[in-house]
Amino acid sequence: MRALFVFFILVSNSIAHSQVIVNKELSLMGTDFIITVVAPNLEIGQYHISDAILEIKRIEALISSWQETSETTLINKNAGLQPVKVSEELFNLIKRAIQLSKLTDGAFDISYASMDRIWKFDGSMIQMPNEEAIKISVEKVGYKNILLDDTNKTVFLKNKGMKIGFGAIGKGYAADTAKALLIKSGVTAGIINAAGDMNTWGKQPDGSPWQVAITNPLNKNKAFALLPITDAVVTSGNYEKFVTFNDIRYSHIIDPRTGYPSKGIISVTVFAPKAELADALATSVFVMGIETGLDRINQFPGVECIVISTDGAIFTSENIKLDTKN
Ligand code: ADP
Ligand code: MG
Repeated sequence: MRALFVFFILVSNSIAHSQVIVNKELSLMGTDFIITVVAPNLEIGQYHISDAILEIKRIEALISSWQETSETTLINKNAGLQPVKVSEELFNLIKRAIQLSKLTDGAFDISYASMDRIWKFDGSMIQMPNEEAIKISVEKVGYKNILLDDTNKTVFLKNKGMKIGFGAIGKGYAADTAKALLIKSGVTAGIINAAGDMNTWGKQPDGSPWQVAITNPLNKNKAFALLPITDAVVTSGNYEKFVTFNDIRYSHIIDPRTGYPSKGIISVTVFAPKAELADALATSVFVMGIETGLDRINQFPGVECIVISTDGAIFTSENIKLDTKN
């Protein structure tokens, strides 16, 4: 999702330094990416950026559920029929996703995807879906029915109608892999920003850390915090994709246990060593709710979180101290 209220302050006084900041904004994985690298000159920077673009396209081809030939599409097509042999990379991603389901008591679940037949957040829904339809659909959801065979590297969705989707983790994973590739190629600093799912490394040419400005979506003009970041920061928000019925705003994040969208939270920002983890946890906090969500985040080492409720109140995990008066 477009980061409306999380953006980078790219303060560069690169003239005084031998390095420059090179940026490219483009559409990838159906969303807006901004790739930033610190490089000796523009040409080298652009060269590295094109490498990162290829890497992100490679990930998209692996995890997309709309590309007919992707491994993910094959898994979904064979739900209830047969196991599908996949690449080690996708196998491991699914394995980590299942671990995250266990760590979040099922709040995060890539098999939420069959619910997208019921809940649509593209403006096409005109009434609340009926209870019975939700009940029938949610029976198809359940990470415990994603069966992995470690030896043969196969994935089997046990029940017909089951479906997996990487909407809540794919952009984070792409940010991680693109960052890893650039580090391997010797790029000393940069930012992969996948529509607000960001992974950074190194420092700006003047030696200062990258920073993220956080604003309240209910008061977008004022940043209430400017925080330094060393790794990943991801924001999930329901300010773009949502539906409203009877004055209740339902977000595009679904509780996999009930089949109903989460409510009560307007945005969740998670800081973590990896964007994939941050991405998954941001989605999970939406589902778990403020109290349980923050409690769970406090148990993850190196992970911090800022939550804003639909009425504009701000909550943080234990180690974030905000001066919210500013
Ligand atoms: P954003 O759209 O801000 O990137 P997220 O990273 O939280 O938001 O991803 C939301 C997307 O994740 C949804 O659009 C949907 O594709 C998928 N999703 C919804 N609910 C869940 C869930 N409980 N577990 C895993 N994925 C989910
Ligand atoms: Mg997410």
